This record gives sequence, structure tokens and C-alpha cells, in this order.
Amino acid sequence: MFILKSEIGFDMSHYLSGYDGKCGNIHGHRYRLIVKVKGTELKSTGSNRAMVEDFGFIKLILKDIHDLFDHKLVVEDDQIGRDLIKRLEGTLQNFEHVVVSYRPTAEEMSRDIFNRIKAKGINIYEVELFETPTNSCIYREEE
Ligand SMILES: [Zn+2]
Repeated sequence: MFILKSEIGFDMSHYLSGYDGKCGNIHGHRYRLIVKVKGTELKSTGSNRAMVEDFGFIKLILKDIHDLFDHKLVVEDDQIGRDLIKRLEGTLQNFEHVVVSYRPTAEEMSRDIFNRIKAKGINIYEVELFETPTNSCIYREEE
């Protein structure tokens, strides 16, 4: 089996509704995203011959993920999240945010990113999302 590995980083803040502790405040991370794409066979024809996937295509998809989250506040689509967005939108200029259907933990985000990449037709094997240099979550689908 072949595994391609590609990496990108983005800066993002999030709010974890209901979290008891210092991460209960709005705060940010420098996220590091490492994705692995698998293939048992290489393409046999065309411009991508002898490749699992074109690195350029993988980079393009990672750029989309970067642009979606980079320098944004990410909140869950619950009452607190919606109230927070409403207040900040009325107060801050150039306020950009993303509302997601889940609590934006490293676990949920890595699963969401995995599924976004899979939806592009990539044979994604694994997503590893670092929230700090020493803490990360790996998401894979059960074999
Ligand atoms: Zn955090």
C-alpha cells in the first residue's frame, strides 16, 4: 500500500460551550493538519500515471480547509453559539466566523475534515489535527 502525506497549518479560535476550565473562554490555536491518502494501486494512464493522487490536487483541497477555518471563530450551532455570533457581528468589524453542527473539539474537527476530503473523491486514510505542538487527534474510519 502507498500512503501520501501532506500538511498545512491554520490559525483558528473556538468556543467550547459548557466547558469547565480555562478553555471555557474563547481562545485560539495554531492548528497543524496532516492528512494521509492511501492507494494500493497507482494510476495506469493519463497525466497522473504512476501516482496514487496528484499532490497538487491534495494541496488544493487542503487550501480549501485552510481558507474555511483560518483566522475565524468557530462555534457550535447551539443557543450560546448563536447568541455569541449575534453579539460579535453587531460589535466587531471584519468579524468572520464558522458555525458548525458539533462542539469544535480536535476530535470533531478531525472527523469533519476527514469527511470533507472524502467528499472530494480522495481516498483519505487518516487525518491528524494538532491543537498544540504536543496534542493531536487522529481520525480514521473503521476498516
Ligand atoms: Zn482550544
